[in-house]
Amino acid sequence: MSEWNQGLREEIKSRAGSLTDKVTEIRRDFHRNPERSKREERTSDIVAQHLESLGIEVKRCTGNYGVIGTLRCASDGKTVGLRADMDALKLQEETGLPFASQVDGVMHACGHDAHTAMLMGVAKTLVSVKDKLKGNVRFLFQPSEEAFPGGALGMIEEGAMEDPHVDAVFAWHVMSNLPQGQVGLRTGQIIGGVTAVNIHVKGVGGHFSSPHLAVDPIVIAANVLVALQSVMTRQVDPMESAVLTFGTISGGTRDNVIGQEVIIRGNLGAMNDQLRYQLSEGIEGCARSVAESMGGSAEVKLWHGYPTTENEAGMTEFTHRIMLEELGEESVVEMDRVLGGEDFSYFLQKAPGALLRLGVWDMDKHSEPTHHHHPEFDLDERALPMGVDLLAQVAARYLLVD
Ligand SMILES: [Zn+2]
Ligand SMILES: [Zn+2]
Repeated sequence: MSEWNQGLREEIKSRAGSLTDKVTEIRRDFHRNPERSKREERTSDIVAQHLESLGIEVKRCTGNYGVIGTLRCASDGKTVGLRADMDALKLQEETGLPFASQVDGVMHACGHDAHTAMLMGVAKTLVSVKDKLKGNVRFLFQPSEEAFPGGALGMIEEGAMEDPHVDAVFAWHVMSNLPQGQVGLRTGQIIGGVTAVNIHVKGVGGHFSSPHLAVDPIVIAANVLVALQSVMTRQVDPMESAVLTFGTISGGTRDNVIGQEVIIRGNLGAMNDQLRYQLSEGIEGCARSVAESMGGSAEVKLWHGYPTTENEAGMTEFTHRIMLEELGEESVVEMDRVLGGEDFSYFLQKAPGALLRLGVWDMDKHSEPTHHHHPEFDLDERALPMGVDLLAQVAARYLLVD
């Protein structure tokens, strides 16, 4: 018989609710004092002190400011992992909020301040009911989500998903185009992976009037760009999604000189990691052979970013049932898929779980949603207590329900 019951559900709800002011205050403090990726010194200190004050075992990850907390409940059982990312972005805030960033050129413009504050609230909530829970809760406060190679891998290498082994893992990501009061869920591939592509086309310089004595890298680059669009249409299953965009191209020095080289930089995104790796090879081969066929050469550098984030079906369904019970059908929507990159994917490769979207669009204040990674990014703090309650419910139910 399930040890999950209405009394515990109500208790979690009221404990989470009682933390509203505190969680909001913590979020505003982080917002005022943002720290860029791999520099989350103050934030991780505050998190570690908070967990320690609650009696949670704390392990600091060396070097990259990660905080791993382990709450051992009344009896043995499963272990649930909960993750929050803590880093801010290199961006000048223009919100005009009373608690706007006090650090020049750095801003919490993705909501990671809210993720961290909410997970601190979840920790306090779960500690207060730990005698009624079994198993363990692993808190994963992660640095550097925004900057590749990200903080998740380092934490995993330092044992974040073991001892005790984490059986399932969940995280919130706030969503500025989802109205406050709603949550977004989706099974399967939700955030695609990205590969950075850098093509260095080399030719032989010369006088504009004597192209036969030179190898023009600009004409080669033009052919490479066109040929690569064919790679994207001819090597991708039409039922799959992938995108190749070149954001910069540079070469040449003046109008009457054939230059020596052209550098083209872009990003390849795909939902399917295998497809992305295959396309990377296709891009490299195509660029090289086109350049060589025209008497030049092309050096292709590829940087594979985070793998695709994939929500496991069973765990997504589990959270879906809870959200429906707590919020009702009209507030639980299917989230959009994006080709953006998110290193929670590494945790999901170690344990089944789900990344959940929390709506933070304040429709009373903004007629159009603000954008993530934008100087005017804003979030509705009324979503914070809901985020604390729901994530605590997911964790507690996972531990208690067989
Ligand atoms: Zn972001
Ligand atoms: Zn983010």
